[in-house]
Amino acid sequence: MNVHSGGRPSDPAERRARQVARNRRVRAAVARLADPRPVRLEPRAETDTVVRDGLRRTRLLFDHDGRAGVRAVLLGPDTPDPLPAVLVCPGRNARLDAVTGGEPPDYPDRDVAVHLARAGLRTLTLDYGLDRAHAAVADQGRDPATVLDGELRLHGRSLLGVLVDEARAALAWLADRPGTTRVGLAGHSLGAAVALHAALLHDAPVPVCAASHLGGYATLFGRLATWDQFAALPSVLRHADLPDLYAALAPAPLQLQYGLDDRLLDPDDAAAAGKRVRDDYAAAGAEAEVLALPMGHGTGTAEAAAFLTRALAEPAPPPPPVPPARVAFSVTDRLAVTDLVDGALASGALTLGPVGAGLEEAATGVLGRGTAVVSSGSAALEIALRIVGVAGRTVLVPANTFFATAASAVRAGARVQAVDMELDGLGMDPAALRAALDAHGDTAAVLPVHIAGVVSPALPEILALCAERGVPVVEDAAHALGSTLGGAPAGTFGRLATFSLYPTKVITAGEGGLLSADGDDLDRARRLRDHGKRSFTENLHADLGSNWRMSELHAAVGTVHLARLDAVLAERRRLAAWYDAHLADVPGLTRYTVPDGVATNHYKYLAFLPEGVDRADLKRRLRARGVGLSGEIYDTLIPEQPYFAATLSGAAVPNAAWFASRHVCLPVLPGMTEHEQRRVVEALRAELA
Ligand SMILES: *Cc1c(COP(=O)(O)O)cnc(C)c1O
Repeated sequence: MNVHSGGRPSDPAERRARQVARNRRVRAAVARLADPRPVRLEPRAETDTVVRDGLRRTRLLFDHDGRAGVRAVLLGPDTPDPLPAVLVCPGRNARLDAVTGGEPPDYPDRDVAVHLARAGLRTLTLDYGLDRAHAAVADQGRDPATVLDGELRLHGRSLLGVLVDEARAALAWLADRPGTTRVGLAGHSLGAAVALHAALLHDAPVPVCAASHLGGYATLFGRLATWDQFAALPSVLRHADLPDLYAALAPAPLQLQYGLDDRLLDPDDAAAAGKRVRDDYAAAGAEAEVLALPMGHGTGTAEAAAFLTRALAEPAPPPPPVPPARVAFSVTDRLAVTDLVDGALASGALTLGPVGAGLEEAATGVLGRGTAVVSSGSAALEIALRIVGVAGRTVLVPANTFFATAASAVRAGARVQAVDMELDGLGMDPAALRAALDAHGDTAAVLPVHIAGVVSPALPEILALCAERGVPVVEDAAHALGSTLGGAPAGTFGRLATFSLYPTKVITAGEGGLLSADGDDLDRARRLRDHGKRSFTENLHADLGSNWRMSELHAAVGTVHLARLDAVLAERRRLAAWYDAHLADVPGLTRYTVPDGVATNHYKYLAFLPEGVDRADLKRRLRARGVGLSGEIYDTLIPEQPYFAATLSGAAVPNAAWFASRHVCLPVLPGMTEHEQRRVVEALRAELA
């Protein structure tokens, strides 16, 4: 899967779109291969600060779990902050003290940090500590770094990946430091590889100056054989060559330097690589600088200083918009999915196999009740309603729910009637339900929905009312995986319950659903999902089922995501608590208060608009401020859906109508930062003032 396959479109807009999409794929591949792990670098002590020749030099000893004793030096002008800052990633044989002016440099250009500091930049230079790792093997004439890399590869990691983790943590430390205006990266040789990969994994464009690290991988590692194995990510060429990696930094400011007398590179190959980077940058609508300098394996320090000073003096680009939804799978999770999918493909069991069975077991662990995996939430609803038996009779659904709740009942042969909601727990209003049961003596099932993830405190009253009338309850818990009422999980209240694993839900399988039930109901659900087959081995069909199976490939996605449920819930609750604390003084906006006894998964974070505010217009104005609200639940009630408009009329649903017109859903995103949440609240405050 080479990124350079396919012709080059001549239309600049199309070329740009293609280059941007390719860059995104390259960055995703790099993330997979680097397999980044969270590292926090905490300086153990800021010891012996010295000021000499106008530069302030502070030695730091960083502390993190993986590798003890990472050393660094903070070097900058002896002037007060704020200043832009650069993370300096030296070459593998550089000595920290030489780079940062503690001792004379061994080559004229090796004191890069000093040159950058003299140009007015604060610098942080890392010492990779490669000579201290596995020091004993050096006595046996072996290269400690190569030994360490070999050891890491056994775990699917690489030394470059570990160095990049540390560089990213250092970059974050530098960026968070009070007094830092903007951050950039400078790297030489192996350090250029570290800087390149750290920048590729950074979530915002960051200026990079990379020296003496340019060419095609095949030339550097093959024809010239001048580079150490750990200077590239394992299997990187399956996805991208070195110029593709540099090109994927676009639109971040980029300066590439190479020496015309560098014996570790081939100048012609470096020039060709540089041209490719420039062309691909241009295709993406940006500009990369490539400098061929009269030097050996070095750094053009004056050029580096001029470039970084210029790039970091520009105002930071505006932050990317806060989106209404965001990818939920970390690199580690993606790799776990890949492993499960690979196992399924290798075994040949592609549906109704061990991965799906494992997902059922995990879901049962969450709910404390038997579960069956199926192809969608809608399939789960239809199966549940066929088990209950609703054909030719009435099913009562909330007026405010997703179309699928009501449509599944129709597909199971029922007529539906809509019931109003109550605005405390967002469930069915018990009084309205009583009236509906009185009006529809043929009611075969009642379908409460846990809107927004809230299991309504009125649910026990609904259950009692239905029990009194002998009407079975099927819970549509599509929003509510992980929510509880009085400590009991959503999905354990009805005779049967259903969940959706659609991508927008709190836990997803890509597509998929779960049904929870007991005893014969569960057995029958398992038969119905597989064409009503009496048993897996017999071709005898006793029931009118369908293909409602979940593939093993989807089950792999669901398994990995469900394993994260506790962390997902903890994060969503933390984000919701932050909104709770910061929305109070936004004019007019009233946040929804979760009732006592309910622990919600915060599938949606709800707030209500003042009367007369045009929601669609507000959302447009918020988008212009870089804030996307997520979709409503719901803006069109079931009786108003065109499909039902002709057949569904009857009781008024004033609460549902009020709710549908007045609520908004604030973004609750995986990995959302406090800064992003603050932007949401400030945008609302500005627009509602
Ligand atoms: C998502 C959803 C469904 C349908 O789930 P699918 O997996 O998309 O079929 C049903 N009911 C509600 C309330 C939903 O939100």
